[in-house]
Amino acid sequence: MTQPLSGKIALVTGASRGIGYQTALALSRAGAHVIAVARTVGALEELDDEIQAGGGSATLTPLDLRQHELIDRIGGAIAERWGKLDILVGNAGILGELAPMHHISPKVWDEVIAVNLTANWRLIRAFDPLLRAAPAGRALFVTSTVGHVARAYWGAYSVSKAGLDMLVRTYADELDGTPVRVNLLNPGRTRTAMRAKAMPGEDPDTLPTPAEIAPSIVRMVSPDWNGQGELVNWRDTR
Ligand code: NDP
Repeated sequence: MTQPLSGKIALVTGASRGIGYQTALALSRAGAHVIAVARTVGALEELDDEIQAGGGSATLTPLDLRQHELIDRIGGAIAERWGKLDILVGNAGILGELAPMHHISPKVWDEVIAVNLTANWRLIRAFDPLLRAAPAGRALFVTSTVGHVARAYWGAYSVSKAGLDMLVRTYADELDGTPVRVNLLNPGRTRTAMRAKAMPGEDPDTLPTPAEIAPSIVRMVSPDWNGQGELVNWRDTR
């Protein structure tokens, strides 16, 4: 059986666990070669084992996304090896600390903005020519309800997601006349390490799993997904 994403090159950030891990796996099962980005080498190796066991292939790229200049280098390496990037999933994110605005430490503020916002801009900046070089380049960024609904104590995280939303919508508006499509997915509450940190008292068994979210991401980066600059809620994709 032909796999729908056969021959596609897909880069996923935050592929070491949670939503990114399952997205990388699902993309590989759909036939894409996955470039898996995160800091935790052991977890990337586990992903690689699982991808290979399913007959797929991956390129592991251990990287701290706060080292923004390294993102440019990856862009150069992809250009040299494949000359295109079909799929970009900007998923990596950190929560920082839940605290009143005036209590957030400058270090945490800078980290959250660096990972959740600036790194995604650097990905767009580095990979735009590669997405345009693909026959149907698709980029998807993972956002959150608190990017557009103000909630006390979500601090730098919500500000970073609000910035991400406008980054993506502005970029989308610049892609007029190209085959590239860029969109946002809000997964909603999902059973991951980040959610457990934000809501330690919550019963994780009441939450959807990352494996339930991933198929919607695969759909939204497929060539026949034609939305542009849209923010899609996962629950509306089921
Ligand atoms: P997890 O904490 O499970 O995973 C986060 C991923 O981001 C990990 O793979 C981590 O890898 C990676 N990451 C974090 N910091 C860096 C860094 N400096 N450099 C490279 N990679 C990094 O989170 P989720 O799966 O829950 O979150 C995925 C996305 O979904 C995030 O953008 C989050 O904001 C969003 N989201 C999640 C919700 C939820 O309820 N879970 C709800 C709404 C949105 P490593 O540590 O190995 O570097």
